[in-house]
Amino acid sequence: MAGAAVLVLNCGSSSIKYQLVDVESGERLAHGQIERIGEETGRLAHTGSAGVKERDERIADHEAGLRAMLAAFEDSGPALDAVDLIAVGHRIVHGGDRFAEPVVLDDDVTAAIDDLADLAPLHNPANVAGIRVARTELPDLPHVAVFDTAFHQTMPRHAYTYAVPRRWATEYGVRRYGFHGTSIAYVSREAARMLGRRVAETNLIVAHLGNGASITAVADGRSIDTSMGMTPLEGLVMGTRSGDVDPALTGHLHRVAELSVDEVDGALNRESGVLALAGANDMREVHRRAEDGDDGARLAIEVYCYRLRKYVGAYYAALGRVDAIVFTAGVGENDAEVRGKALAGLGRLGIAVDPDRNAAQNTGARAISPDGTDVAVLVVPTDEELEIARQAAAVLDEA
Ligand code: ADP
Repeated sequence: MAGAAVLVLNCGSSSIKYQLVDVESGERLAHGQIERIGEETGRLAHTGSAGVKERDERIADHEAGLRAMLAAFEDSGPALDAVDLIAVGHRIVHGGDRFAEPVVLDDDVTAAIDDLADLAPLHNPANVAGIRVARTELPDLPHVAVFDTAFHQTMPRHAYTYAVPRRWATEYGVRRYGFHGTSIAYVSREAARMLGRRVAETNLIVAHLGNGASITAVADGRSIDTSMGMTPLEGLVMGTRSGDVDPALTGHLHRVAELSVDEVDGALNRESGVLALAGANDMREVHRRAEDGDDGARLAIEVYCYRLRKYVGAYYAALGRVDAIVFTAGVGENDAEVRGKALAGLGRLGIAVDPDRNAAQNTGARAISPDGTDVAVLVVPTDEELEIARQAAAVLDEA
């Protein structure tokens, strides 16, 4: 008998990703995505109890998208009225400094998320569109917002403050927020469990390396620093984002190349990172090119791993004691070369990677450090949807 389930929604500007998750067992009962919303031909792919269903059709807006999702549940199962659906969990990118916890959505909270659009202009408006439509289509269920920034609200002010005019912070919210918090929360708990420690007594450096990438210092289970800042651009080298650059670069390129602020911003977010150096943003392709002798691809890997190693050193210093370094998300879970290169030469810090364990083809949570090292090195598959489902259920339990 299935237990309580949460429908997790992740609404982007032209897509909706969803999962129906059993909160107790963590089982994924159904999942799917709707893409190319607003374009001539949209696409829906639903995997449910009756298998996979794919359909190409025009999906005018988020409302049409959610209706298509509900129809897919009816056609291909599981029927939503046959499961114990207790809530809809919404993934929200930016909670500013207002939301440090998940929260049950009402009109005021929805408006507050909308007000944060200046901080996340690409993401929050789409999240809000999804909330509004979902609350209309599924009016009898509680809707819970789970924020990507919330886990990092425990950062001390010396970590989140930029040394810039105070007015920028007070009037425009200019400070570091950090992202990937849902993933880091999940992975931290799993890592503590593997170490046999209470998460509230565990110090970790967690590298979430997906297309976007960030690294977080976790002290006693709480974020004390993270590499993404006011926006997800800061920090590590990513698939298409530069990560850290000299902030003078925007003004310089404006003067010498007559690029507008928006052009530089767009290039740093979408045409930089591994893509700029290697000509591809998927790490698997970058490795193929590097093996074929492509110097740009080799450089991309070197720059990527060097930046990662610098942050490991920085967060080691921030934490003082590190119980484990944890790799997660697409690159972190699968890319042995990146893990090995990023941590090479850190033996004096008690950090080592066992080459055989690192190279083993294994997709589960595992240790890749030799037995008996001071700092464990772990690979822990993330599950953001399960974490959103659990957090949503927990909020309702408290209410
Ligand atoms: P997102 O950030 O979009 O959620 P993921 O966490 O799924 O992404 O990570 C996607 C990225 O993971 C891909 O762009 C690719 O670079 C990388 N990746 C996936 N599989 C592998 C692999 N086997 N080896 C190296 N990199 C991989």
